[in-house]
Amino acid sequence: MSCSVRKDNGVVAEQGGFEEWLQGLRNDYLRLIVFVTEQCNFRCVYCYETFRVGRIRPEVVSGIKRWIGRRMPGLRGVRLSFFGGEPLLYPSVIVELMQAVWAMRREGQVILGDVTTNGYFLGGKLARTLISNGVKGFQIAIDGLASWHNRFRPLRGGQPTFSVVVRNILGLLATDYSFSLVVRFNVCDQNFQSVVRFLERYRWLADPRIAIHFHAVFGHEVWRLCDAGRRLAELRRIAREMGYRVLELGGVCYSCQANVFVVRADGRLQKCTVALDDDRNTVGVVRGDGSICLDQSKMRA
Ligand code: SF4
Repeated sequence: MSCSVRKDNGVVAEQGGFEEWLQGLRNDYLRLIVFVTEQCNFRCVYCYETFRVGRIRPEVVSGIKRWIGRRMPGLRGVRLSFFGGEPLLYPSVIVELMQAVWAMRREGQVILGDVTTNGYFLGGKLARTLISNGVKGFQIAIDGLASWHNRFRPLRGGQPTFSVVVRNILGLLATDYSFSLVVRFNVCDQNFQSVVRFLERYRWLADPRIAIHFHAVFGHEVWRLCDAGRRLAELRRIAREMGYRVLELGGVCYSCQANVFVVRADGRLQKCTVALDDDRNTVGVVRGDGSICLDQSKMRA
């Protein structure tokens, strides 16, 4: 299978409608948030992951394909969201799963792919490969100007990452590819002004393929945003006045949606990508033959 990488092929435009359907808890859609690996080349100061699990096991990949294959006849659409760790450490897993789902696709079914990445490996060749295989949604975090971003989001060895991530985003924007990119700013009291200055300086983010999203750093003792609701609203207002497309998240959280599962690299099925080590979050397991075992009492909780 090979999707068009060009603009105006309609695939990105479908994503909003599909999201709305998902939020309606329909049974004829399935979204899997797949941990391609739980390792990462970054060490962000606020990261809540423990990096205890490695690359997704081959039997988990087989299980995902067979699970989707079994469900496919009754589905109107499938969305695969690739997560980690850093999923682009193993892009071949992403391509393998997207190609498998496209090969099973029937007339009229919608297939969507997106990836949450730190952006470090998203160079031109890989971006084209992903987009041509149907991965058309990206989310990348930038936490302000270089000084704050590099402090918050260094490589595992402490080296800076800002210039590589910005170069890769600029490379994407220089193409006529069809994609959507959410640039997420993790905001706390310390980098608030740096985020504003970033918005003033990097006006290229006002590209129609980009939406920006502000999120308070959460769960950290030092890096916190006081009066978060008011100050995030202030950032959204500032950004809109500068001409940016600002994302407002709302509606039903994916973790409450019956047709959304998080697939950990070791095959555990969960409902939330944050409470990774909370036993209440592990609702089942996917086996290599594509069968899934669910704890119904946890699913109902
Ligand atoms: S890029 Fe994501 S997974 Fe990697 S260290 Fe940063 S927050 Fe954690």
